Amino acid sequence: MGQRSGRQENSKKLELAVSETMQAEEKLQNNKEEDEEPMAKDRRLISVFGVADLKNGAIGLYNVGQSCCLNSVLQVFLMNIHFTGLLRRITVPPSAAQKRKNVPYQMLLLLEEMQRGKQKAVSPIALACCLSVYRVKLFVQHDAAQLFLTLWNLIKKQMKMPELVEELSDLYAICIQEHLACQKCSFEVKRKSSMITLPIPVLDFNSQVLKTLEACLQYFFHPEELTDKNMCFCEQCGRKTPFLQSMKLVHLPQTLTIHLKRFCFEESAKIHKLSHYLPFPQDLDFNAILTEDQCQADDKEKAAWQYELFAVVAHSGSTSCGHYCAYVRSLTECKWYCFNDSEVCQVSWDDVKCTYGHSSLHWGETAYLLTYMRKHSQ
Ligand code: ZN
Repeated sequence: MGQRSGRQENSKKLELAVSETMQAEEKLQNNKEEDEEPMAKDRRLISVFGVADLKNGAIGLYNVGQSCCLNSVLQVFLMNIHFTGLLRRITVPPSAAQKRKNVPYQMLLLLEEMQRGKQKAVSPIALACCLSVYRVKLFVQHDAAQLFLTLWNLIKKQMKMPELVEELSDLYAICIQEHLACQKCSFEVKRKSSMITLPIPVLDFNSQVLKTLEACLQYFFHPEELTDKNMCFCEQCGRKTPFLQSMKLVHLPQTLTIHLKRFCFEESAKIHKLSHYLPFPQDLDFNAILTEDQCQADDKEKAAWQYELFAVVAHSGSTSCGHYCAYVRSLTECKWYCFNDSEVCQVSWDDVKCTYGHSSLHWGETAYLLTYMRKHSQ
């Protein structure tokens, strides 16, 4: 999922985006013209838009040219009330030029536009232009995991207020302790690090398919022996020795993002998509997944490791020509929505399960980013 694009393809997509926008405007125009009694109008709005509750922000985002990836990632941010709570507290940049270049401010404007109107969808073009200042190109198909991290880092950098930055980190940061131990002596190195997504492999070291999300997580935290060419230099032994590398989970945040590594580089440097079936649960308890040895946390921390699925960013198509959409469970209504650019519809859990993937359906939809929400606040 690089940033590849053909000029021809781009212009076609742009044309599509423009026509989509025009169609939508036409629809709105029609609604305005036929101003009948309010009841009938409301009923028609509901049927046209297919969303029962527009007040809760289940509003689509127009595709402004290959922006399905951005749209999907944005919906996951903006449907998260813990995140939008922070976003509403940012300091408004003083000048117009600074406003145009400020990512959190542009996100806030977009959120307000989504919540203000009775529109079916709004355009993210101002935010997309703002992001292009920071080398997030327009009219390019992005990788959702990369884009999520880029956006998150820009938001963090530009939020400025130290307490907001800290709260944003608390909301998303996973804390891990990396542990390296020499197998010939007692020498060991421990290092704490934090990450914003858990990059989970979907294959094991023998390239065998891992059967469930739980199995992928267990594999991620499984200790690995570093032998032969992977040996490390031991200060105490004074030579390269076999090491045991392990990771311990220290802390999980309110909003936990799991990146399923379904896109992998082959030797030819071509990117290959792994579309196989990989089920993930609605409820995830890390205490049931990890062993005592894989945790470095007290009982209070561990008690908070109960999660419920909040969002799925799914990819369909091939690596060179694909499409993203987002399934998000509204935290206020507890209903699932599918955000497919400007189209938003309420869906069932069975619909979300369609993103588990299928080996023989390379064009099928597969979950790529999973966002779990902690069930109880600490
Ligand atoms: Zn040693």
